[in-house]
Amino acid sequence: MNSKLETTDVVIIGGGPAGLNAALVLGRARKKVVVIDEGRPRNAVTRESHGFLTRDGISPAEFRKQARADLLNYPSITIVEDEAVSASGSDGHFQIETAQGRSYRSQKLLFAVGMKDQPLDVPGLAEVYGKSAFVCPYCDGWELRDKPLVILNSGAELMHFAPLISGWTDRFTICTNGPDGLTEEQREELRQRGIPLYDTPIQSIESAEGMVRQVVLTDGTAVPCEGIFFKPTLRIGSDLPRSLGCELTETGSVAVDPFGKTSIPGVYSAGDAASQYYQLIAAAAMGAFAAAAMNNEMNLAAWKRR
Ligand SMILES: Cc1cc2nc3c(=O)[nH]c(=O)nc-3n(C[C@H](O)[C@H](O)[C@H](O)COP(=O)(O)OP(=O)(O)OC[C@H]3O[C@@H](n4cnc5c(N)ncnc54)[C@H](O)[C@@H]3O)c2cc1C
Repeated sequence: MNSKLETTDVVIIGGGPAGLNAALVLGRARKKVVVIDEGRPRNAVTRESHGFLTRDGISPAEFRKQARADLLNYPSITIVEDEAVSASGSDGHFQIETAQGRSYRSQKLLFAVGMKDQPLDVPGLAEVYGKSAFVCPYCDGWELRDKPLVILNSGAELMHFAPLISGWTDRFTICTNGPDGLTEEQREELRQRGIPLYDTPIQSIESAEGMVRQVVLTDGTAVPCEGIFFKPTLRIGSDLPRSLGCELTETGSVAVDPFGKTSIPGVYSAGDAASQYYQLIAAAAMGAFAAAAMNNEMNLAAWKRR
């Protein structure tokens, strides 16, 4: 247990691509930075990450390892394996406490806490998640191109997703796992394109070593497939932004301006916690923008004090 109070320029809560890229930019700007990370990224379930230039196909763990190695070049950056449990104060005077009893004071605070999946309520889905069941075709659609898929989705969201996924495969079946939430016109739109639609509840997803074989419905219908795309239910990775008073959006993410500024002066947010892009490269870019904005504010304040 360490109860020593440490003073730093910026505390970053969350060490995913958003938090680590923010740390890199701030370290290069000669700022003292503490990154507090409990190490539970949302993509930990998956084996490969795609779509990040120079890192296409890398595992999430290797991505973080390489990102942390980049930070070692900058001695003003410290990474702490811990959970931030409280954040208080105001611009220039934030105080952050951790589960292991550490305390930090900082001028600025960045929430890069990501999003968390809520428990998967379809039997068998947890076994295939990240291996053959995915959430984003931009991340994993290429690997499942032209394969027979099951789409677990319903309502208006489904009518957005069906045309999207048809860019990767036209061999897909829709299972809404209960009422489809569609209008007759929307059902007709799917029928005309020959897309099977089942609203019978799902009994189980059958798989072997993480690879889905079929989706079985409660009436006994079996839908063979080699992959699944589903809509997850998400929650922000930490309640700290809300408890500090940051305004949230309708979807529960932190409301920010294009530079990651929240409704509370001196508090920034970046990555999945503050957007709906849910991409490594977007999270890293948001971290970089927020870092530059925090650095500008700190340099300007120091300039005025001179
Ligand atoms: C199955 C799956 C596959 C994906 N595949 C891809 C892909 O191929 N390509 C792609 O671009 N994107 C992919 N993504 C999306 C990508 O993982 C996210 O967009 C990205 O990780 C977001 O980065 P982030 O830094 O915002 O959050 P995260 O990477 O989730 O990191 C947030 C960190 O903050 C920590 N944290 C939260 N609260 C606290 C606290 N109170 N104290 C300390 N630490 C805390 C968490 O433990 C975590 O380590 C995938 C997502 C999933 C779920």
